[in-house]
Amino acid sequence: MSWQDIIGQNLQVSILQKAVLSDRLAHAYLFTGPEGTGKESVAFELAKVLNCENPDADNQTGSCGTCRSCREIDNFMHPDIEYVFPVESALLEKNDPAKAENKRTTEARERYESLIEKKKQNPFFTPSMDRSMGILTEQITSLQQKASFMPAENGKKVFVLSQPEKLHPSAANKLLKLLEEPPGHILFILVSSRPESVLPTIRSRCQILKFSRIKPSDIENWLQNTHPEFQTEVQRFIVNFSRGNLGIATEMIDSFKEGRHETFEGIATRDRAIDYLRKLLSPGKLAEAITDTENISKSFGKQEMVTFLGSLLLFFQDIHHKIINPAWDSFNNPDLGTTIDRFAKNFPNPDFFAISTITEEAIRAIKRNVNPLLTLSVYSIRLKNLVGRS
Ligand SMILES: [Zn+2]
Repeated sequence: MSWQDIIGQNLQVSILQKAVLSDRLAHAYLFTGPEGTGKESVAFELAKVLNCENPDADNQTGSCGTCRSCREIDNFMHPDIEYVFPVESALLEKNDPAKAENKRTTEARERYESLIEKKKQNPFFTPSMDRSMGILTEQITSLQQKASFMPAENGKKVFVLSQPEKLHPSAANKLLKLLEEPPGHILFILVSSRPESVLPTIRSRCQILKFSRIKPSDIENWLQNTHPEFQTEVQRFIVNFSRGNLGIATEMIDSFKEGRHETFEGIATRDRAIDYLRKLLSPGKLAEAITDTENISKSFGKQEMVTFLGSLLLFFQDIHHKIINPAWDSFNNPDLGTTIDRFAKNFPNPDFFAISTITEEAIRAIKRNVNPLLTLSVYSIRLKNLVGRS
């Protein structure tokens, strides 16, 4: 990774490059912006630039990526770089071999390591342990201790805090003390997709750098450069399906490379969405559709709900294209040709504009934490009226 490998954040990168060159970096940054926009990748690249043994003189390319320091940062092993994210408390218990909790801690350690492994594979992944109560006091106490020492080498200590909106209150207080009198040898980078939930006292101590959603054309160019072996239709599928989220795009790339894209979570969710749509529109299957609505609202998390609704949106776009131009071949879902054909024949005249409006509304409602069952029920009734009518 170097500056040139950062996708679609030219303005943000050039602001940081200038700050590094003129030695005017802030003590603390808060990187904000939607998920999967590469905020943490930029944080780690900055950490590498500040600690690289062979940085380029004009800082155009950034870190060398091959020196010991760069490799240690890539492997989350660098003594001066700390990466903090929400963990479960069992991870932090003192490991006393005489105690029964020993096993709990060992298992928690394994879960932690597997998240770090996943992060190494997918730099756009945001780790958080399932049983976490947030970023815990002990984690910040440990940062305080590390902050009192100078960097072991010539560079700068960099503390990357992922999801500071999940700081436990007493952890937040400790962090605030650090941010109020920041030691000069430390750079704090807080990274949040929900900056409005970060404590205002912490936010106000940080220089805010906003990241923008990645443009489809940027993802497309990146895919063409990194995976020229992918067919155009696979590339288009990844671009459309990831909706500007590089984390999702990376997972899709891996699943395509390994030939297991049918089991990719996002595609499984899409297939579930189309199955639900089929039931909703089939005469005599309404009861099944209602059960489906209940199950989906209960079992899906927020992100999955958004994927579910988003894939309906993309599917309807495909039907629309098929109806207005039967020769159309640039589908969002190139693997669903037959299904698209069948829907286009059975429902030749739906109001696509209204359908996309209500779907976008439902997505917004889910993002605003409106009750999922209520949202999906209302959506189902409206959708059935709009499509079934034709
Ligand atoms: Zn290097």
